[in-house]
Amino acid sequence: MSSRIKRFERRIARSKEKIIKLVQRWGILTPFQFQLVDPQMNEVVFPCNLGILFCGAFLRKYFNKIASRIELVFESFFFNIIDLGRYRFSKKMMSKGIKKEKYEGASVQILEKVRLHPTNKFYQVLIDKRIENNLDMIMALTNLPIYSSSSKDINFLFGEANLDHKTCVISSLTLKEQFYKRKRNRGLYNLRIQKEVLHEIGHLVLGLDHCENRLCVMKFCQTVEEIDFKYTGLCIKCQKKLEKLRNIYNF
Ligand SMILES: [Zn+2]
Ligand SMILES: [Zn+2]
Repeated sequence: MSSRIKRFERRIARSKEKIIKLVQRWGILTPFQFQLVDPQMNEVVFPCNLGILFCGAFLRKYFNKIASRIELVFESFFFNIIDLGRYRFSKKMMSKGIKKEKYEGASVQILEKVRLHPTNKFYQVLIDKRIENNLDMIMALTNLPIYSSSSKDINFLFGEANLDHKTCVISSLTLKEQFYKRKRNRGLYNLRIQKEVLHEIGHLVLGLDHCENRLCVMKFCQTVEEIDFKYTGLCIKCQKKLEKLRNIYNF
């Protein structure tokens, strides 16, 4: 009799777990409860496969430029860089976890508060796509503004990486000159995107540490001016770290 009850209790616990996962997956809970569900948290072995997903209205024509820049800087680290196409959040999902914030000095501030999306919302989509496409690492490029799911005070991020889940997201809004009430500058925007992509991929490959060299793409930047100051590549010290990894993984 008691074993029957125990079996029944276990069954209830399992269904409870399933329901919680489902609820979290669809973002029904509050933004900071966007718990990530990742059934495949394997260690990455280099060289590996990388996928790029375009979220929202980010232009896909940037794919080739971005992929060739990654190949140039992280030479032989990736077998394949795959264009995963466009992804749009459903109407319901789009409104989940959003936070309205103003950005001091931004042109949009005059108009209204900006609706920011939590990074975990992107990470969950990326985790699912990573598994579905049998990839090792995955990145999202989006025009939507983002805030960090790990800290409610980190708003208007240029990008963020999640090492546990081998995912990263880059937001283009704050990389645009128009955001700062200045004239559009395609060349500058292009370079900033490339630098941010390299920075976040750099985290996925080299870890969370930042570089102290102000010219290195792995330097932490709080402003676009700091981004503009950096090279579109790694400093000698960071290149040596790549070399070390190449030796470890023997390629
Ligand atoms: Zn960083
Ligand atoms: Zn460096």
